[in-house]
Amino acid sequence: MKITDLRATTVTVPLEAPLRHSNGAHWGRFVRTIVEVDTDEGITGLGEMGGGGQSAELAFAGLRPYLLGHDPFALESLRFRIANPTASLYNNRTQLLAAIEFACLDIAGKALGTPVYNLLGGKVRDQVEFASYLFFRYADTATGLGEVRTPDQLVEHALALKEAHGFTTHKLKGGVFSPAHELEAYRAVAEALPGDRFRYDPNCALSVEEAIRFGRAIEDLDNDYYEDPTWGLNGMRRVRDAVAIPLATNTVVVNFEQLATNLRDPAVDTILLDTTFWGGVRACVKAANVCETFQQSIAVHSSDELGIQLATMLHLGAVLPNLTLAADAHYHHLTDDVLVGGKLTYQDGRIAVPDGPGLGVTLDRDKLAKYAELYRELGDYPYDRDPGRPDWYPLVPNTDWADPS
Ligand SMILES: [Mg+2]
Repeated sequence: MKITDLRATTVTVPLEAPLRHSNGAHWGRFVRTIVEVDTDEGITGLGEMGGGGQSAELAFAGLRPYLLGHDPFALESLRFRIANPTASLYNNRTQLLAAIEFACLDIAGKALGTPVYNLLGGKVRDQVEFASYLFFRYADTATGLGEVRTPDQLVEHALALKEAHGFTTHKLKGGVFSPAHELEAYRAVAEALPGDRFRYDPNCALSVEEAIRFGRAIEDLDNDYYEDPTWGLNGMRRVRDAVAIPLATNTVVVNFEQLATNLRDPAVDTILLDTTFWGGVRACVKAANVCETFQQSIAVHSSDELGIQLATMLHLGAVLPNLTLAADAHYHHLTDDVLVGGKLTYQDGRIAVPDGPGLGVTLDRDKLAKYAELYRELGDYPYDRDPGRPDWYPLVPNTDWADPS
């Protein structure tokens, strides 16, 4: 089989409300690039990529000469063809490789009439558990609804998400307000949901000393882990020495070099595997296998996703014996998806792994056209800017917090 064409379409899908984070915000929408890879056997595979609020169409157009004529089953050679680790110093294509790998796995599964999980060793579970992924939010500009700023609003939001989707694990994305405000909010959520489990992620915004202070102040809660409280392996190692909670990262162990470094000189306990950041589903499976060998815990990271990328996270979660922690997804903050049948649904905090051939999801062409039009209307947005504080940008570590009053 040979790849005969590659099409990329940028779409914008609205969120319920803008999601705030330590670098800025998702401005009320996700901008995602949907990739379709065609073959000479009439099978088309689906991929997806983000890009910090910006289109990746041009980057995919640049890959055409590399991909046309390539066998979609030849995934190891694809890796070296477009993301050779030394050439990548110049062209940095890891995330593009990931989107193409998703599409090739989709093609391979469709060609063989089997789900992607069967190409990855077979599933060991039928559903993947997810955490609620709580954000501080601005109100939606159209409806004026959805603001999450105070501890009371955060608790109300967490209870509503639990009611709607059945989550029993709750992650708070912080790094927006002062540590004192976020500590009060995190503890309020834990108090309101006895018996559930929690994780806090300020996206590396805290100094080592502040991270230690915050970590010690939540040690009594039922924390899965404390995610990227500070920046860098060396900072994380200092926090880990001082706080009795496992540390997790999706920022400083995102490739095999860093994984090896962390195993030789541990700084982080839980590796959050992202099918985009690591360069594909298969890279995540390989990393998970290394982690299994070294008894290093794992979970599945969310770098924002529509249903195609969510499907890659589900197939990944399905095949990992050592996945004992809930995955993260931004997915429930979306108002819609580009899949036939609409958004995939949570049942008791879990999403069923698709059993159809390939990734097991189908593109809704009307929705694709509708949200491509919305992208043309609204354009890009800067993921690393806060619409409420246009002149602000964070230092690392940050001390200039948003005002919650
Ligand atoms: Mg994180």
